[in-house]
Amino acid sequence: MDDADHNLAEDPHRQADDCPICSTPRRYFGDLPGRPRVSCPKCGSVERHRAFAGAFGASFGADGSMKGARVLALRPDRADRAMLYGFGAAKVVSFDGFPRDTPDVVGDPTAMEFGDASFDVVLDNGLLATVRDPGAVIAEMRRVLKPAGAALIYESTALDRFTVEIDDRERQISWYGEEALDAYGIGLFREWGFSDLEQLLGQSFGLGLFDTRDPVSERRYVWFFGMQAPMTSAPFMDAAQRAALLGLDDSG
Ligand SMILES: [Zn+2]
Repeated sequence: MDDADHNLAEDPHRQADDCPICSTPRRYFGDLPGRPRVSCPKCGSVERHRAFAGAFGASFGADGSMKGARVLALRPDRADRAMLYGFGAAKVVSFDGFPRDTPDVVGDPTAMEFGDASFDVVLDNGLLATVRDPGAVIAEMRRVLKPAGAALIYESTALDRFTVEIDDRERQISWYGEEALDAYGIGLFREWGFSDLEQLLGQSFGLGLFDTRDPVSERRYVWFFGMQAPMTSAPFMDAAQRAALLGLDDSG
């Protein structure tokens, strides 16, 4: 991985060791297997949340950057919710295709019950890998967004290979179990290749790639920002940064 090209703006007042979501000092963080001191006891954040919260706050303003926003959160965890409210969201509606995490709304993610243009922000935390028709979910995300709204999309992706579709039932049920698959159609259906997901999202959205990094572990998380119009300006990756991310030759 390259490491020199992406200097994120930093908040000079924030300690790198503090949780950017709830300000808990890192010395209070709990351990996870193989990852010492990564779990914030107050808000539940791990590296991914803190990388995003720090970068988003630095780029868009930590206080009130979603001020008053109505947010649809697809399979958010506790820290996602805390983060969205920390950014100033007025209301976060959680949604999932199955009831395990007791979301506000359980429904078919390819036919959500929300009206057109009813949210300012849609956040996705990994749901797209777990539905049979991710393209239909992406179309729904666009439909429910207001014209100036933004989709914030985080999915696990491999930078260096194509998407692998998972046909084996045992693997499909390995995350969420048989009931999720048989009653709700939710399972592990694919492992994303970065470029494949980028291309699919690009069919519905103007896309920006938002590069984030956990300052403590140096783990890197690239988020997709989707909007109705093309996005080329800072803080999103330009073509050369994208090529560097993917290890491509940018000379063309
Ligand atoms: Zn925290």
